[in-house]
Amino acid sequence: KRNIAIMTSGGDAPGMNANVRAVVRAAIYRGCKAFAIMEGYEGLVRGGPQYIKEMSWHDVRGYLSEGGTNIGTARCMAFRERAGRLISCKHLIEAGINALIVCGGDGSLTGADLFRAEWPSLIQELKDTNEISLEDFNTYKHLNICGTVGSIDNDMATTDATIGAYSSLDRICRAIDYIDATANSHSRAFVVEVMGRHCGWLALMAGIATSADYILIPEKPSSSKDWQEQMCTIVGKHRAKGKRKTIVIVAEGAITSDLQPISANDVKDVLVKRLGLDTRVTTLGHVQRGGTAVAFDRILATLQGVEAVKAVLDVTPDTPSPLIAIEENKIVRKPLVEAVKITKSVAEAIQNKDFEKAMSLRDSEFSE
Ligand code: ADP
Repeated sequence: KRNIAIMTSGGDAPGMNANVRAVVRAAIYRGCKAFAIMEGYEGLVRGGPQYIKEMSWHDVRGYLSEGGTNIGTARCMAFRERAGRLISCKHLIEAGINALIVCGGDGSLTGADLFRAEWPSLIQELKDTNEISLEDFNTYKHLNICGTVGSIDNDMATTDATIGAYSSLDRICRAIDYIDATANSHSRAFVVEVMGRHCGWLALMAGIATSADYILIPEKPSSSKDWQEQMCTIVGKHRAKGKRKTIVIVAEGAITSDLQPISANDVKDVLVKRLGLDTRVTTLGHVQRGGTAVAFDRILATLQGVEAVKAVLDVTPDTPSPLIAIEENKIVRKPLVEAVKITKSVAEAIQNKDFEKAMSLRDSEFSE
């Protein structure tokens, strides 16, 4: 029997609460103790009962649909340093925890991966400096770690969807539906900036779901001259056919092929100057993250939470840490290290201007 802790880390995403609920209840169902680490890695670094709390079945009542994360999340600089991870190791041992499930984005899971890899040397150091007893050293030789990806960006490799992405996409589509009314009424153009960091998934899918006229995403940039030319040709053609509204979606990470950022205002200037359109910019901002989780995210988070508990009970010191993914509608385990590595190589491919590679490394919807 294990003492299993769940933590949410990085940017909040709808469905994180559902994941916490599923982990807590699946752990208790399997006869384990469940804990919540408050405030992401910050809670591990600080330690103690205020930050590492045992959770009962009833503590997570109502969590299923709620947006955000009730156990808190934070960006934690200390955990990026070995000293921060060393004290985290001690705090976990003090709390008697031997399995950790991290629900977070690629940064959080990179940290989790590093923590597990370093664990043997961390406990060795704690033993050598008499911070932990020989008995604890022998009891906590291995920390089982498992990742469930919580991120609105859908930017993690090897999983088709991350927890929160479909809720955010739904919010974006609703917002654009609202904007449509004004665009149509005044025959206006709207440039809508959406989140996603270095990933264009939200922009791409929102574009398909709202029949946007043009989309700018980081994975498929063109030269400054080319995108302007192409956008104006397409928008001009639609207008000539009698379309009264124009919607252009810009991913927050949109760039030119020279890696220069393209802002929503840059796009607006082109629409105004070259096409003479009455153009407004709408930056959706944090409304994209808020609100209740859509049914898909509740289901995804719940199934993944249950699977994560099974995974930490299965993992032996020799098996690589798993990431719980969804692939072709099946909940599956993937090697965490691999997922983190591929995700990094997308960013590297973009930095090296190898956009074809970036597209092919992204999930299939990008390459089709
Ligand atoms: P996300 O998980 O949403 O990608 P961040 O990249 O901000 O968000 O990561 C969340 C937290 O995970 C950071 O504040 C830090 O504590 C931890 N973290 C991120 N990258 C690393 C790393 N390379 N090594 C150790 N910890 C990391």
